[in-house]
Amino acid sequence: MSHYGNSMAKLIEALSSLPGVGVKTAQRLAFHIINMPDENVENLSSAIMEAKKNIKYCSICCTLTDKEKCDICSDPKRDHKTIMVVEDPRDLVAYEKTKEYKGLYHVLHGVISPMLGIGPKDIKIKELLERIQKETAEEVILATNPTIEGEATAMYISKLLKPLGIKVTRIANGVPVGGDLEYVDEVTLLRALEGRREI
Ligand SMILES: [Zn+2]
Repeated sequence: MSHYGNSMAKLIEALSSLPGVGVKTAQRLAFHIINMPDENVENLSSAIMEAKKNIKYCSICCTLTDKEKCDICSDPKRDHKTIMVVEDPRDLVAYEKTKEYKGLYHVLHGVISPMLGIGPKDIKIKELLERIQKETAEEVILATNPTIEGEATAMYISKLLKPLGIKVTRIANGVPVGGDLEYVDEVTLLRALEGRREI
């Protein structure tokens, strides 16, 4: 890699540290970047810096936003009595694409996984409990992925919520096991949501 000079080697190394980017792709991207007009390179690097600086977790639902409170949580037209718990902001986006779900969300930023050493304290469960004690939610829909970790996380949360007298539901198994919600089509997501059952 040093055949291209140190700066190039550094760029390739930085790019290949991104998920899903191997050395070959990193090289291709690096060559593309150095051939881009200066202005485009500046736009790219400032977009990265700005996103990193401005994007934070919504103080209510923990999704990514550049405001204190995200657009969904601030929208009075949404159904504030229903909270859907998802693993990741990308799952929220997938459900928003269906345009059918009108409730609010809560983003866990992961699932409990003893194998990976991720416990309940490492994801946004405490924030969910605090929020439910403050707000007037009537139903919590557990929409974690139907993987072993996703199911275990749903069970864990339902045990915490039940004593609070809230209706807890789990999305139907329309979603293929092991599938990431992000890649499931909208019809499947809607079917999973409509077929949810109380647990
Ligand atoms: Zn929010």
